[in-house]
Amino acid sequence: MARIVQKYGGTSVGTVERIKHVANRIAESFTQGNDLVIVVSAMGKSTDTLVEMAQALTENPNKREMDMLLTTGEQVTIALLTMALLERGIDAISYTGWQAGIETDTQHGNAQIQDINTTKIEAALHQNQVVIVAGFQGISQDSQITTLGRGGSDTTAVALAAALQAKRCEIYTDVTGVFTTDPRFVKAARKLHSISYDEMLEMAHLGAGVLHPRAVEFAKNYDVPLVVASSMVEEEGTIIEEVVSVEKGLVVRGIAFENDVTKVSVVGLPNEMNTLARLFSTLSRHFINVDIIVQNETDSEHVTISFTVTQSTLTDTISALEKAQMELNYENIEYESGLAKVSIVGSGMVSNPGVAAQMFDVLANEAISIKMVSTSEIKVSTVISEDDMVIAVEALHEAFQLAEEVAHEVL
Ligand code: ASP
Ligand code: MG
Repeated sequence: MARIVQKYGGTSVGTVERIKHVANRIAESFTQGNDLVIVVSAMGKSTDTLVEMAQALTENPNKREMDMLLTTGEQVTIALLTMALLERGIDAISYTGWQAGIETDTQHGNAQIQDINTTKIEAALHQNQVVIVAGFQGISQDSQITTLGRGGSDTTAVALAAALQAKRCEIYTDVTGVFTTDPRFVKAARKLHSISYDEMLEMAHLGAGVLHPRAVEFAKNYDVPLVVASSMVEEEGTIIEEVVSVEKGLVVRGIAFENDVTKVSVVGLPNEMNTLARLFSTLSRHFINVDIIVQNETDSEHVTISFTVTQSTLTDTISALEKAQMELNYENIEYESGLAKVSIVGSGMVSNPGVAAQMFDVLANEAISIKMVSTSEIKVSTVISEDDMVIAVEALHEAFQLAEEVAHEVL
């Protein structure tokens, strides 16, 4: 008998039929003797629908009221799922975020969990009830209802697993696990048995949104083993935990990629100590998220600073820079759209210096020119033309032998 937190995402509870299916799964796990706390998202796209309704009324919805509105989505699911379980003769009870003791800061729309008072949940578990908790919501120190940011139900689940010292947190979603790369683009993509928190963090930031990055950070900090699996297909998922493998061959574990990348170059900036700081504080004042940054000295007096932004923020980026031309004192701005970022990820890279070289080699062999590079201990990212993206990912997937099952992967 184990204490387990399970989370079911919006697609998994998207219709009443699917809620019945989820109830059957929960009933089965409960009958096996597990203590269960279940976190659910709003049904299907209902959060989007609520956002659209608010936007139809006002351009700038009041943040407190927005949270009041959005938290209703999850409240619908917890009630329906609990009814379905009661119908199956399983004692269950639903709790909203505040009832479940999820205490947050006061930042409406993007609140952070500060503490969890588990008294109510513990009492319910003690009475052998299945506890159904609304994801993505909490209560602030000043008693206001808050939300944790889009996709935040994952974080609710992991935080509860940590607070309740659950054996693991199972995230049920519409994919069967975490793959070596996006299987919609690369046929050879393989589901991973396991991946480390750090690798998953890189993949989560870069990948298809399987898991909310903040949830992975939480799991890492509190050492909560996470399992990602499908709620619809009975198939072993992927486990995310601290130490995954001692296998030497596993230097690269996955390839993440994204398109709609634009490179912006600010040319002829003064070559001074605080140039970088001034440039990026200008951008951050305009809430522009910058990714890869490269600085080149053109001569002793001038530097060019290039960085990438998503295509959708290009207009805002240019206008922010133009407004600050006097202050920043640059010559001109150049930009190149239609780019992609392709990254190889793997914890083993720290001790394998040849990995980046091998990546550049593979791309050179495909006649793909690399426009920018950035590295971390467990990742090498390259910026290339969007037209080359899938070819690059396929070639790298093959070169790093990611399609091959690794026999002695430690589970
Ligand atoms: N329902 C919320 C959203 O759609 C939270 C979640 O599903 O994680 O963002
Ligand atoms: Mg999600």
